[in-house]
Parts: sequence; structure tokens; C-alpha cells
Amino acid sequence: MEFIFSIISKSIKLIILSIKIHTSSSLTILNILSEEIVAKNDFFYKLINVKLSDKKMIGIGAGKGGVGKSSTTVNLAFSLQKKGYHVGILDADIYGPSIPKMISIESLPKQDGEKILPARGMGLSIISAAFFRKHETASFVRAPIANHMIEQFVHVVDWSSIDILLIDLPPGTGDIQLTLMQNLSLSSALLVTTPQQVATLDVEKAYGLFKQMHVPILGVIENMSYFSDPMTDTKHFPFGKGGGAKLADTFALDFLGEIPIDPAVSKAGDEGLSLFDIAPNSLAAQTYAQIADHLTESLLTMDQMDIEEIENIDSINFRIKWADGQSATLKFAHLQRNCPCMQCKQIDPATISDDLTAEQIERVGRYAVRCQFKKGCSKGIYPFDYLRKLAGIHSCE
Ligand SMILES: [Zn+2]
Repeated sequence: MEFIFSIISKSIKLIILSIKIHTSSSLTILNILSEEIVAKNDFFYKLINVKLSDKKMIGIGAGKGGVGKSSTTVNLAFSLQKKGYHVGILDADIYGPSIPKMISIESLPKQDGEKILPARGMGLSIISAAFFRKHETASFVRAPIANHMIEQFVHVVDWSSIDILLIDLPPGTGDIQLTLMQNLSLSSALLVTTPQQVATLDVEKAYGLFKQMHVPILGVIENMSYFSDPMTDTKHFPFGKGGGAKLADTFALDFLGEIPIDPAVSKAGDEGLSLFDIAPNSLAAQTYAQIADHLTESLLTMDQMDIEEIENIDSINFRIKWADGQSATLKFAHLQRNCPCMQCKQIDPATISDDLTAEQIERVGRYAVRCQFKKGCSKGIYPFDYLRKLAGIHSCE
């Protein structure tokens, strides 16, 4: 037990420790952002369209701090890298950036024309507010500035060489998360929690935020799940049991795995090493590898489910074409009769007329279609895979 507490206190220390600050005079745009000057001068920046649309941008969220979200992000990055992907990490925790502490940084961010090249370390591309702070103590950053900084991280930083961008979202469900999700098309999200019920309550809020922004959630990861005693080969659950699985069950999400408490995880994080180098056969490393397998499968399925075209055929029919070549023609009436919204659930589908028309049908983000009917339902949002089921198309054919 003492041993476990030492691990916990170590990770807490890691969070509390002020971040070692690196500065590079060439990175004027971001440096200016992080300084008090910003408060005086009007904010300026150019939005460069570094193309991220075909990148997988995965937001990693938790309702609150202390669940080991950053450590989870870093270890997932390494496990995806082991599968052959070029992985980037965007540390969106402006107030407590911890990612650069966990990775041995080989090169700092560099200005390249109007773009900024991310820092590099252990084969990963990384951007974090920690690179742009001049003072050891975390300075107060106003919310609008924090939001602008994150926009810069996404649009000015050159992510062109990476396949998957993991975004370590700041804990909580406030402004930054909302802005991030409004401005970016996060292709998906992951939720990290610990086994305690308290943590799961917080993560429910994060779930609500992703849902509200129509970001598909790939699943729940439970961190610090148990400690496996190597002497007796028994599992101990110092933080309770089953919170993550219960959460996944409640919201019909995939439960991706239980990460054990492992001294190798803390050691890797503390010393900027890869868990996969120092303890490749550990249960923790194996669990991360399984989660990475599951994730890449889900991403692939999402790609196939993606809708390429949606068009009105006539006033009562529309046609959808999916990225995998499948297509279907559906009636607006059929869509409304099968609408899962509260308003429609109270209506007898038989009362919906066959010649129902729609004002508009359009994509919402990378996950759903919104239909504005001429009559009835006012909030019909239909995920791509739901439309497939409705059209009678089965996946993996
Ligand atoms: Zn409806």
C-alpha cells in the first residue's frame, strides 16, 4: 500500500512541479501570445490553413484533473507510433501543461516562414504552452488568450507530416473545451476516468460536452484501475472498482481498457522515457497496445461510415453516398418516423405523411446529418451509422 501511495505522490508532484520553460526568440507569434504584452496589444495572428481535415484529431478528455490524462495521452501516442503511425500531441492544457515533462524533447518548436514546426521528441511531434512560457511559475492567462493560443496550436503549427493528432484537453468542461470543439472538427474523442464514482460524475459532464458538439466518442479508458501484486499475483483495487465500465455501459460507449497502476508508468513519465522501452512486457504496456488496436479499428470503421455526398433527389427523397461506396435513397418521412429525438418518440409514426418534405439536409461535423423538416421534428440529428442502419446497409460486407 505504501508503495502505491509513493506512486501517487510522485504523480501529484509531477503535476505540481512548475514546468521548465523553454523559449525560442524566433517563435514570435506564440511568444507574444503567452506574454503580458498580449493584454496590451491587440491580438494578431494569421490563420494558415495547414490542412488537418484528413487528420484524425482525437480529443482526450476527463471531467477533472488528476486522472492521469496526460500520461494516458503520451502512452497512447507511443502505442500508436508502434503501429506505424506518425503521431502528434497537442497539449491543450494551457494552465498546466505537462506533456513536455513526460517526453525527452530533442528539438524545440521552430518558426518556418509563417508556420511553426512542432517540437520533436522520441519520434513524436509536440506542441505545448510549456514551450512558450518565460516564467517558471504558471502565469495567469485570460480565457480568450488561452483560446487563441489553442487556435494557433491547431492552425499555425504544421502538422502536415502526422497521421493522428492526440489533443490532451484541459480538465473540466469550460470555455476552452467548448471553443476547441466549436472551432475544430475533432474527429473523435476519448474519455479517461479513474475507478471512483466521483471521477465518473465529472466525466459524465465531459461526455455531455462532446455529445453537445456532436463529437463521436470512441470509448472510455479507466486509468489507475488496480495494482497487481507480483508476489501473490492478486489484484488490488485501491480506488474502487468498475467506475469506467459502468460509465461506458450507462452511455453505450466502448470500454477500452483498465490501465493498471504500474511503477514503470510513473518512471517513464518522470524520466521522459517510453513505457514501451523500459517495460515492453508490462501489463500496462500490453493494455495500451490493445487500446491502440481497438482505436485504429474504430477509426477505420468511422472512415468507411463517413458520408461523401448527401443530396435531395426530389422534394420527398434524398440520397446518401458513404465513403466506402455504399449508397441509399431515403424518404424524409422514413427519416422522421425513425427519429430518436424526444419530440418524435411521442408521435405515432403512422401519422407522418409519406410526402413529408424538408427545408434542408446537411452534414454536422464528421459524424452526423441534420435535417430540418417542413413539418414536425425540429431537432433531427442522425449519426452516419444510424442512417446506414435505416437504409438497411450492414457494415463489413
Ligand atoms: Zn425528431
